[in-house]
Amino acid sequence: EMAIRYRGVSKVYPDGTTAVDNLDLDVPSGSLTVFVGPSGCGKTTSLRMLNRMVDPTSGVVEVNGQDVSSIPAAQLRRSMGYVMQQSGLLPHKTVEDNIATVPRLNGVSKKESRANARELLGSVGLDESLATRYPAQLSGGQQQRVGVARALAADPPVLLMDEPFSAVDPVVRQDLQHELLDLQKRLHRTIIFVTHDIDEAILLGNRVAVFARGGRLAQYATPEELLRA
Ligand code: ADP
Ligand code: ADP
Repeated sequence: EMAIRYRGVSKVYPDGTTAVDNLDLDVPSGSLTVFVGPSGCGKTTSLRMLNRMVDPTSGVVEVNGQDVSSIPAAQLRRSMGYVMQQSGLLPHKTVEDNIATVPRLNGVSKKESRANARELLGSVGLDESLATRYPAQLSGGQQQRVGVARALAADPPVLLMDEPFSAVDPVVRQDLQHELLDLQKRLHRTIIFVTHDIDEAILLGNRVAVFARGGRLAQYATPEELLRA
C-alpha cells in the first residue's frame, strides 16, 4: 500500500527555475523514505508539495490515495507533522504548550493535551521536568527533540522532516538519528526525511530517493542496493 505518490510532478518557480522535473515516486505506508542529494536539487520543494506549502506546476501528488490539490492546505498541514532544521518552537510558549499547539487547535482539552505532551517528551528522550521550560532554556538538541515531539502530537499518519538534525553538533546528531530509528520501530509512521548527507540517508532510510541537479530523480533504492552499487 502506497502512502504517497508523485505522478509526473514538476515545479517551475515564477523566476523560471525548474526545481523538480517530472518526478514519479511511490512511497510505501509505514516506511522511512529519505530524499537525498546536493543542495538545490529539489528535495525541499518535493517535500513541500506534500502539504501544499508549494503547489506543483504540473502532475499529481497523492497522500493516502487523495489528490492533495483537493484538500484545503490548512487541513493538510494540520494532518502532517513537519520538522525543520530550526525547531520553529514558539518562544513565548512553554515546551508542553508548544507540543500541545496542534491538538489544542483540534479541540483537545488543555489538561489532556498537556498530559499527552509530557508523555511525548519521554518518547523523544527528554525528561518530563522540561515541560514547563521555555525554548530558550533548552539546548539546540533538546529543542529539536521538542520539535519532533510537537510534530508527533497530533498523531499524524505522515511526518515530514527537512534536515531536522543538520543544525546540531555531530555527537547530538547521532543520538537524534538513533532515537528516530527507535521511534520508527515503535510507531511505523510514513516519514519523509530530507538530507544532503548520504551517510545519514543510508543509516535512516528504508528507501532512499537520490535527487540530482535539475530536480530529477536519479535513483530510488534500498540502502543495501545503494551500498552494493
Ligand atoms: P533542495 O531542498 O534540494 O536544496 P530546493 O527544493 O530548496 O532544493 O530548491 C530547488 C531549486 O529551486 C533551487 O535551485 C532553488 O534555488 C530553487 N528555489 C527554491 N525555492 C524557490 C523559490 N521560492 N523561488 C525560486 N526558486 C526557488
Ligand atoms: P531550505 O532549502 O531549507 O528550504 P533555503 O535557505 O534554501 O532553505 O530556502 C529558504 C526559503 O527561501 C524557502 O522558502 C525557499 O522556498 C526560498 N528560496 C530558496 N531558494 C530560492 C530562490 N532561488 N529564490 C527565491 N526563493 C528561494
